[in-house]
Amino acid sequence: MAVERRFTGPIDLHTHSSVSDGTETPSQLVRAAAAAGLGTVALTDHDSTAGWSEASVAAKAAGITLIPGMEFSTRVGHTSIHLLAYLFDPSDAGIVAETAHIRKARLTRAEQMVARIGADYELTWADVLAQTTHGGTVGRPHIADALVANGLALTRSEAFAGILHWDAGYFQPHYAPDPLRAVTLVRAAGGVPVIAHPATRGVADVMAESRLAALVDAGLFGLELRHRENKPEATARLTMLAEKYNLAITGSSDYHGEGKPNRLGENTTTPEVLDRLIGEGRGAHPVYAA
Ligand code: AMP
Ligand code: FE
Ligand code: FE
Ligand code: ZN
Repeated sequence: MAVERRFTGPIDLHTHSSVSDGTETPSQLVRAAAAAGLGTVALTDHDSTAGWSEASVAAKAAGITLIPGMEFSTRVGHTSIHLLAYLFDPSDAGIVAETAHIRKARLTRAEQMVARIGADYELTWADVLAQTTHGGTVGRPHIADALVANGLALTRSEAFAGILHWDAGYFQPHYAPDPLRAVTLVRAAGGVPVIAHPATRGVADVMAESRLAALVDAGLFGLELRHRENKPEATARLTMLAEKYNLAITGSSDYHGEGKPNRLGENTTTPEVLDRLIGEGRGAHPVYAA
């Protein structure tokens, strides 16, 4: 019965709720995904699984398949690399410890960035905290929302293009593990790892064949090659490497509600790839419509 209910519409494997930097609660997000006509949606908040249970209840009610997931922050030198992780055990000790470490580092980093921005602009840490969800993952989007609230930018995107840009003098990185460690942790927790938007400028630059091969050896499942921020040239190169290493290719929206222009279902993943992904997921189950 569950199988019949699985692939009844487009599949979008990358979305964010207010548990991280999306603007909708997990339930609102799942309902928006069903309303957009999707058959399957993955919730992939940054460094947190706190939205899974609410999203599961909403998915059953809305009649849409939910793939529980997360976007794991990792880093190589100065380059931030996002690793999508699906169907892993959310209580796995390794994942719990690593994501708690990252969330704490994100908080300290945001506070330090805000202190420096506040020296030049009307912005306090309290302004930023007012834009966050209790216990949620904090990032630059919340600083952007505070800048908008204070009249210092018109939209999140404008804040990212200005004060929050890595080049603007206020940017600061935060702790994140090497992607190799994250891939290993995700597989150890029964999960399925996919590199998010791998053909974006910074990520593609550090994704040499040797690094990709090492990630494949550690258990990498796929590359999110259909994503609006991927660059054509890097996409072509990585598509060839995906074939060579038998990596799955996924596509998704990276929806953040009103926080980004990305729309649900604007890029999708094939049922065949989702089938493979579900087949390899051992730490959590997809949530099928009731
Ligand atoms: P951080 O991880 O705190 O450095 O912030 C980066 C996050 O901000 C990513 O998850 C993006 O999805 C989000 N982001 C990047 N650019 C924009 C933008 N123009 N508008 C809204 N959110 C953005
Ligand atoms: Fe985000
Ligand atoms: Fe990302
Ligand atoms: Zn994302």
